[in-house]
Amino acid sequence: MHDLVIRNALLLDGLGSAPVHGDLAVSNGKIVAAEGKGKETIDAGGLALMPGIVDNHTHYDAQITWDPWVSPSPALGVTTAVIGNCGFTIAPCRASDRERIMRNLTQVEGMSLDALRAGIRWDFETVPQYLDMLERGGAAVNIAAFVGHSSVRTYVMGEAATQRPATDAEVASMRNIVVEGMKAGAIGFATSTSPAHNGAEGLPMPSRLADDAELSSLVGSLKEAGRGVFMLTKGGHTRIDFLEKLAADSGRPVVVAALLHSSTNPDSVFHDLEAIDKANRRGRRMAGAVSCCPLSMDFTLRSPYTFEGLESWQPALKAKGEAYKRVLADPSFRGKVKAEIAAPAHFRIFNGEWHKVHVVESKRHEIEGRTLDQLARDTGKDPLDTMLDLALAEGLDTVFCALLLNSDERAVGRMLRDPNALVSLSDAGAHLTFFNDAGFGLHLLGHWSRELGVLKLEEAAWRLTGHPARLYGIRGRGALKPGYAADLLLFDPASVNRLPNRRVFDLPGGQPRLLGGATGVHGVWVNGTRVVDSNGVRRDAPLSGKLLREFDA
Ligand SMILES: [Zn+2]
Repeated sequence: MHDLVIRNALLLDGLGSAPVHGDLAVSNGKIVAAEGKGKETIDAGGLALMPGIVDNHTHYDAQITWDPWVSPSPALGVTTAVIGNCGFTIAPCRASDRERIMRNLTQVEGMSLDALRAGIRWDFETVPQYLDMLERGGAAVNIAAFVGHSSVRTYVMGEAATQRPATDAEVASMRNIVVEGMKAGAIGFATSTSPAHNGAEGLPMPSRLADDAELSSLVGSLKEAGRGVFMLTKGGHTRIDFLEKLAADSGRPVVVAALLHSSTNPDSVFHDLEAIDKANRRGRRMAGAVSCCPLSMDFTLRSPYTFEGLESWQPALKAKGEAYKRVLADPSFRGKVKAEIAAPAHFRIFNGEWHKVHVVESKRHEIEGRTLDQLARDTGKDPLDTMLDLALAEGLDTVFCALLLNSDERAVGRMLRDPNALVSLSDAGAHLTFFNDAGFGLHLLGHWSRELGVLKLEEAAWRLTGHPARLYGIRGRGALKPGYAADLLLFDPASVNRLPNRRVFDLPGGQPRLLGGATGVHGVWVNGTRVVDSNGVRRDAPLSGKLLREFDA
């Protein structure tokens, strides 16, 4: 007798095969051949059944310590989440560095400092201890964790981590920590060289101070470990040929983030994908992490992530209170920002597309919904001046929304079909007040597959399950095959999608975040336990996710 039999489903195997109508059974958390009866039987009535979504780019490292349900991911079809992306982990961490690590996360990932202070359970110091804590605490989805470069660097170098290159001895210590983390079951090593990634006091995140030799040594430690994926979020100065060298020397898969399409530099991501293709033809295993969601950000001038990656914005990033307002008002500061935005760049979040920035909330309600481009034309002022003057006049409370990247659907569709692309970049758990793409998988199924026909349904399912599982070496998951874990998503292909976000105040300390639900999701199972039904998340279900420690890659 099986634990569960699902009959009459449109089966998408997660490997890209054409869908077939059939049955599937679950016993002891595993998929088994659907012969015989079940203690529970569900008639799927033609709904689609696929493996649960593998979200390979999340930042749940902090949230999971107070919220083992890693909300909202399970409700959005995710059954496995990879944490520690970009190297922004909370382990390893000495007690004396906790405040520094939290301040960095607040700046770089838009996490509320109050929520982090109230929420994080600091029951660990090292990476192995952190993994043990996750295993003890359990989670609603399966978790795989990267060793994070910035935390490793802070652990070894303290304050100097954000100030200078490392000595040979420091690199050797970092390398030992990475190897120790890999032995304990980390999925790989993650870092960032992106100028958009700034930490406390506007200083660059520690990994940005690493030179090529440090990166080569740390990625080389994966070769020593004999497994593991190297992921990085790269700045424009990090060249694909350097990353190919790391891939060749280490023999490990390399995931290159974040390939987001920019309308002002439209070829750049395709050049990266071509370079990755050439590397793969030479025998490497590289993938370009792409997003299927338009990147838009809600922001106020109190924390304008949109602009903080600009070199010319650095004086503002370092100033506080009244001094900060004086910088924003300073014509010479504004002049430099305007000049930088006008100059071409390889990769930049904001590129002067003022017609894609609009006012969301203002004391002057009549201008809500209008773009800065329109407002500037009305007044004959420059758009940057218009934005800063408005914000200063309203005590920095004005809320703006910028549609930054990935808004050209023809280009994004081409990226999603690229054989070297990995569908990724949900950033779930981070940037909680700016955006929420935790439902990226449902968006791929609903928008890109059903509405636009860019991917067949079975291709979309493969992109979300079998593909990342294979690349990351996630064993026994990502396919509907006997013996595989019963991580399942039951959905209606005619209606599946994510719903628009709304602002809710459910973080520790009552802090706000953007949250959106799902439509067309009928069931989510993690290791055979149903965590979502047609009414949403079943909070009374046991935490059935596993900490994944064994990988094939
Ligand atoms: Zn990230």
